[in-house]
Amino acid sequence: MSHPYELDVLNPATEEVIATVPGAVEQDVDAAVRRAERAQRAWAAVAPADRARLLRRFAAVVDEHREELARLEVREAGHTIGNARWEAGNVRDLLDYAAGGVERLTGRQIPVPGGLDVTILEPLGVVGVIAPWNFPMPIAAWGTAPALAAGNAVVLKPAETTPLTALRLAELALEAGLPEHLFQVLPGRGDIAGEALVRHPRVAKIVFTGSTRVGKHVMALCADQVKQVTLELGGKSPNIVFADADLRAAVDPFSFLDNSGQDCCARTRILVQESVYDEVSALLAEALAAVVVGDPADEKTQMGPLISGRQLERVRRFVPEDAPALRGGAPDGPGFWFPPTVLTRPAPDSAAAREEIFGPVAVLLPFTDEEDAVRLANDTPYGLSGSIWTRDVGRALRVSGAVRAGNLSVNSHSSVRYWTPFGGYKQSGVGRELGPDALTAFTETKNVFISTEA
Ligand code: NAD
Repeated sequence: MSHPYELDVLNPATEEVIATVPGAVEQDVDAAVRRAERAQRAWAAVAPADRARLLRRFAAVVDEHREELARLEVREAGHTIGNARWEAGNVRDLLDYAAGGVERLTGRQIPVPGGLDVTILEPLGVVGVIAPWNFPMPIAAWGTAPALAAGNAVVLKPAETTPLTALRLAELALEAGLPEHLFQVLPGRGDIAGEALVRHPRVAKIVFTGSTRVGKHVMALCADQVKQVTLELGGKSPNIVFADADLRAAVDPFSFLDNSGQDCCARTRILVQESVYDEVSALLAEALAAVVVGDPADEKTQMGPLISGRQLERVRRFVPEDAPALRGGAPDGPGFWFPPTVLTRPAPDSAAAREEIFGPVAVLLPFTDEEDAVRLANDTPYGLSGSIWTRDVGRALRVSGAVRAGNLSVNSHSSVRYWTPFGGYKQSGVGRELGPDALTAFTETKNVFISTEA
C-alpha cells in the first residue's frame, strides 16, 4: 500500500495523539476492491449454513473482545465507557442477527401460465460502506453485517478521526475465520479514499452515513453510474411534549445529550405546550445541573467531550454567550468540552432552531395546540426521528401519523433497535437499514421463468 499521507487519531478527552494510521489513496481503494471481488465470488459459493456459522463465530470473537473494543472507543471517540460497552455488544448482536438471516434469504415462486416463475436473491458483489465518527462501531456494522450475510464482500472506510475500532474489527473477522479480503477496512480522507470508493465502477452499492451535505454529493456520484445507494443523513428531531404528559420522563436530558449530542436521532427541538413551558424549563434546569460531564473512562461519567476541536468550534458558533439558555457544567483544560445547554425561546427561524448542531445543545420552543405542534415538528428539511409525549392515545396516533419522520417513539425516547427498520424521510436519507429486511437491501432480485411447454 502506498502511504502519501497519514491520519493522526486524537483522544478527544485529552487532545493527545494516540495513534497514526496510513491514509488510503485511489490506488489502494482499487486494489482493495479487486481483492474483495475475488473473495466475494468464493464467499457467495459457500453453503448458507457455513456462512452463517462463520458470522456467528465473528460475533463470538467480538463478544470476547468487547471490553477491549469498548476501551478503544473511549480513547478514540470520547464515548462514555457504559455507552462504548453497549456499542461493542451491538456489533455482536448485529452479526448474530444477520447470521440468522442467511438461510432465510429466500426468493418467491409466482404463479404464471405455461411454466414456473421464481425469484432469486443474488448478492450485489462488492459493497462500499462509508461510516461517520459519531458511532464508529455500530454504524460500520449496520452495513457490513447484513451485506456479508447476503453474500457480498465489504470495503469499509471509517471516518478520519475514528479508524481504530474498525481496523480492530477487521482483524477479529480474520481471527474468527472469515476469508481474507472479504471484509477490508481502509482508513482515509473522505475526499480521497471515500470518493474513490464511491466512484469505483466495480463497487455495486454504497452505504453512506454522514452529513446531508456530503450525502448529496455521494448520491450525485452514484447517479453517474446508476449505483445503488443507501443514505443515513442528518437530523433535527422534535420531542413533542403535550401538557398531559409525564413531564419529567418527557424531558429526560439524555434524549439530546447522549453521546454529547453527537447523535443523528438526538431530540434537539423540544416542543412544549405553552401551558407547561415554565414547568418544563425548571425541570430541565435541574436535570442539566445534575449531568456528570468528564473523563469518559470513569464509570460515573454521563457525558464526555466532543469529538474534535473542529466540532467544538462548530457548536460554539450556534450558542452566543449572551443567548438566553439553561446550562450545565463542563471541565476546563485540555479536551473538547461543551456544557449541556438548552436555548430558551430562540427565534424558530434561527440557525440554532433549524440546523443540526451535533453537540449537547437543544432548543426549547412553545406550541399552542396539536396542529401547531405538528406544523413546528415538520418545519425542517430533516425527518429522521422524534418523540411524542401524551397520555391521550388518539392524539399519540394522530401525531405519529402526521409527523414526517422515519423513526418515532411515543412516551419513549428510544429509536434504534437492530431488529427494527431505521432510516430517514426527506433530507435525512434514502433507504432503510436494520430490521427484518436488512439483508434484502444487499441483493438484486432476478426473475427466472422456466417454460413447461418446450
Ligand atoms: P461527514 O459527512 O463529514 O463524513 C461521513 C463520512 O463520509 C466520513 O467517513 C468521511 O470521511 C466521508 N466523506 C467525506 N467526504 C466524502 C466524499 N467527498 N466522498 C465520500 N466520502 C466522504 O459526517 P460526519 O461529520 O462524520 O458525521 C456526522 C453526520 O452524520 C451528522 O450529520 C449525523 O447526523 C450523521 N449521521 C447520520 C446517521 C443516520 O443514521 N441517519 C447516523 C450517524 C450520523
